[in-house]
Amino acid sequence: MSEKNAYEIAVEQYDNAVRHMNLAPEIVEMLRQPKRELTVHFPVKMDDGSVRMFTGYRVQHSLAPGPGKGGIRYHPNVTLDEVKALAMWMCWKCAVVDLPYGGAKGGVICDPKRMSQAELERLTRRFTAEIACIIGPMTDVPAPDVNTNPQTMSWMMDTYSMLSGTQALAVVTGKPIEVGGSLGRVEATGRGVTITALEALKVKGVDPQGATAVVQGYGNVGAISAYLLQDAGLKIIAVSDSSGAIYNPSGLDARRVMHFKQHTGSVVGYPGAEPITGEQLLALPCDLLVPAALEQAVHQGNADTIQAKVIAEGANGPLTPEADEILERKGVLVVPDILANAGGVTVSYFEWVQDLQIYYWTEAEVNARLRLHVARSFQEILAISQEKGVSLRIAAYIKAIARVARAIELRGLCP
Ligand code: NAD
Repeated sequence: MSEKNAYEIAVEQYDNAVRHMNLAPEIVEMLRQPKRELTVHFPVKMDDGSVRMFTGYRVQHSLAPGPGKGGIRYHPNVTLDEVKALAMWMCWKCAVVDLPYGGAKGGVICDPKRMSQAELERLTRRFTAEIACIIGPMTDVPAPDVNTNPQTMSWMMDTYSMLSGTQALAVVTGKPIEVGGSLGRVEATGRGVTITALEALKVKGVDPQGATAVVQGYGNVGAISAYLLQDAGLKIIAVSDSSGAIYNPSGLDARRVMHFKQHTGSVVGYPGAEPITGEQLLALPCDLLVPAALEQAVHQGNADTIQAKVIAEGANGPLTPEADEILERKGVLVVPDILANAGGVTVSYFEWVQDLQIYYWTEAEVNARLRLHVARSFQEILAISQEKGVSLRIAAYIKAIARVARAIELRGLCP
């Protein structure tokens, strides 16, 4: 595992990309840190009548390209540095797929697994009120992240609407369909992973028909990527979750594995597959590896064991910078997270557009527009990577940073 915290990694990645660019020093400095960090301490009445204090954050990395955009995370380990890193990554992710947003992120230090629904609702409503001064449909638009979901977004939207005296559907995305959500949002991240993975396989000259794929993590991103890859002709030979991994060299039925996990809680025990360890799964010979679980899953200690030709980062930050170097030397083509998993925020953007217009699209329209954004961005980033002789990750950063830097230049300094 890397010794660095998420923010140090984010800044290091930024510095690595900036080295290949010709940016004005003041813009380099401006984008190296967040524009705004808000810390709030607030009380919540618990079910037993006691009142507990909680701490939460909202960080906006840049607002030059447009409103802030990024999720809200509930977790005991949330820190300001983590939220700052995630806000910076959101800024690049939005710019990579040409969305008119700056990056933002939020979080509350809490353990939602030990809280009732009523406590979570009161926490969400009070946190929304505390950060209402910096969020809004044209200011900063939150979305779900770890341990928050469409219900959390409904409470946020309702609280903000009550405070502002408007129907502020566009203040958050990732909402249920009945209160302004978008069709296609649930599958969007996995769909983006699939589109970029197929493009990357093409670059490597691998025919998707019968190519092999391994997926680490079988949640929203992993399971949906697995069945969409299978629909595209790939053979899913191994998948894992936090309880373990399963392997079948003849191929697993990705949808059946998903239903099995929905019923039993894990992929482990799926009939017709052999149990293996998580480390064995990462080391399997395959055409495509999709790490879709945790940060830093591939690190200095195990990067050398990877045999995949292509890695599409479904999760955020699944490769440490050290692993990245090792894999580049081995000739593995890595589709970086800010491109591979940008499908989710792209459809969040579509949700926001639909809410602002109060006019809703069909799922086919959403999916077609998603393909357009993600496939076009992949080609642009591939071209930068070939022209400058850099990895897709550096190329994606170059594209993203250049776009945000240009927005800053065009807007100029105020006053
Ligand atoms: P999720 O909670 O639905 O799924 C996570 C999966 O990872 C679960 O199946 C869990 O069992 C598994 N897992 C946990 N630890 C593991 C381990 N050590 N080995 C193997 N599997 C393990 O979460 P998700 O929404 O699918 O998100 C996964 C990753 O993708 C996160 O990094 C998230 O930030 C990122 N991401 C998600 C979205 C989205 O739209 N959901 C968008 C962009 C990025």
